[in-house]
Amino acid sequence: MANDASTVFDLVILGGGSGGYAAALRGAQLGLDVALIEKDKLGGTCLHRGCIPTKALLHAGEIADQARDGASFGVRTSFDGIDMAGVNKYKDGVVSGLYKGLQGLVASRKVTYVTGEGRLSSPTSVDVDGQRYEGRHVLLATGSVPKSLPGLEIDGNRVISSDHALGLDRVPKSVVVLGGGVIGCEFASAWKSFGTDVTIVEALPHLVPVEDENSSKLLERAFRKRGINFSLGSRFSGVEYTNDGVKVSLENGKTFEAELLLVAVGRGPVSQGLGYEEAGVNMDRGYVLVDEYMRTNVPTISAVGDLVPTLQLAHVGFAEGILVAERLAGLKTVPIDYDGVPRVTYSHPEVASVGVTEAKAKEMYGADKVVALKYNLGGNGKSKILKTAGEIKLVQVRDGAVVGVHMVGDRMGEQIGEAQLIYNWEALPAEVAQLVHAHPTQNEALGEAHLALAGKPLHSHD
Ligand SMILES: Cc1cc2nc3c(=O)[nH]c(=O)nc-3n(C[C@H](O)[C@H](O)[C@H](O)COP(=O)(O)OP(=O)(O)OC[C@H]3O[C@@H](n4cnc5c(N)ncnc54)[C@H](O)[C@@H]3O)c2cc1C
Repeated sequence: MANDASTVFDLVILGGGSGGYAAALRGAQLGLDVALIEKDKLGGTCLHRGCIPTKALLHAGEIADQARDGASFGVRTSFDGIDMAGVNKYKDGVVSGLYKGLQGLVASRKVTYVTGEGRLSSPTSVDVDGQRYEGRHVLLATGSVPKSLPGLEIDGNRVISSDHALGLDRVPKSVVVLGGGVIGCEFASAWKSFGTDVTIVEALPHLVPVEDENSSKLLERAFRKRGINFSLGSRFSGVEYTNDGVKVSLENGKTFEAELLLVAVGRGPVSQGLGYEEAGVNMDRGYVLVDEYMRTNVPTISAVGDLVPTLQLAHVGFAEGILVAERLAGLKTVPIDYDGVPRVTYSHPEVASVGVTEAKAKEMYGADKVVALKYNLGGNGKSKILKTAGEIKLVQVRDGAVVGVHMVGDRMGEQIGEAQLIYNWEALPAEVAQLVHAHPTQNEALGEAHLALAGKPLHSHD
């Protein structure tokens, strides 16, 4: 094993996705000598197979819907179909532009970027193609890959994962989406906009089941209106190939035929065979276990992102990576409040939330201590103009702070920033009500919801 003993990095990072590269950029900014090891493409899942390409597809879908709906705004438009090659060109153009920018950023911060598959060889080193990279500290950030169910083989042809779905060169006629979480609902929404016949199968009683039940119900109502079919509360039991597609069976005896089955049942950590156990790192079902400062039980090893059992979101990876870099550089760090992390499902309509659900708030504070208020977007001028329906639901500790904001409606994801400040700064409804919101914006709906919660509703019916 080649070992250049003269180079001992402050930080060796395994995995160049959101978590890994954020730690590299922040570490280098703070003067750490950083090596970043990536076997595929800098940017990881989010940039190449996740957040960015899916949002480009959803935006193309939005344009398709607008082309169909022009007449309802008095504009003569027609929808002549989807040119998937054109959509992919647009999507790939967005990704490659950001990829180039990110590569430039990493180079400009003087991070030692290593291409190759790495393996943890000791608590302070990673081996890549016969070369050992020694570090005073190692950060594990190898991320996640799509999961399947026992006995369900993803063949990449008729039974596909989100990775395959993003590379499709055609609009499928019909798709069964297995899993009604964020990824399943986003693909269902985009495909429906493209003209696909979509059925979502979710074993739990609701779509986006970790959201407040009110948000789930509003999304279900909107999807029903859009003609997106879904089956809730029954588990998948099997799939067989038909002449031209698949036949999906559920435990309740229902079957659905389609051209494709998208398996969107979650993502599992990438940790097998990478030397983590051998180095003594505590793990649970493949996840690396960490404390609130992202420290593993091995003093020289930290871990971040989808590899650890926290929310699988790019901005969580960024925050965790930054936290590790700052801790190693000797700055004072504060653990992340995961309830305070914004969550957005970018479907049509969008679902956005921060804080806790009403049910969780009741568990935490007692049922009689929790107040919930719903503000209907029907009273919001800009939402009317956009012809979107939905609600903002606020959850408050009686006479105290707002502990949950749950929004459904087109573009409501863009409102999550203020909601996040309200939650994280423990704002009282009266304090938010005092702030003047611009008219007519959808943001104003958030202000009006707080006016109502503060006992002085303006455009809302009591
Ligand atoms: C379809 C889809 C849509 C999504 N949409 C959103 C969204 O809208 N918003 C959001 O916040 N999140 C979204 N996510 C989640 C987000 O992409 C992930 O949470 C995020 O990418 C996790 O970052 P990470 O750094 O932990 O892992 P990853 O991004 O998976 O990066 C890990 C990196 O490590 C590399 N690696 C693995 N093993 C090795 C090895 N042995 N040697 C060298 N390199 C290695 C991999 O090649 C990879 O580049 C989406 C995910 C998917 C799949």
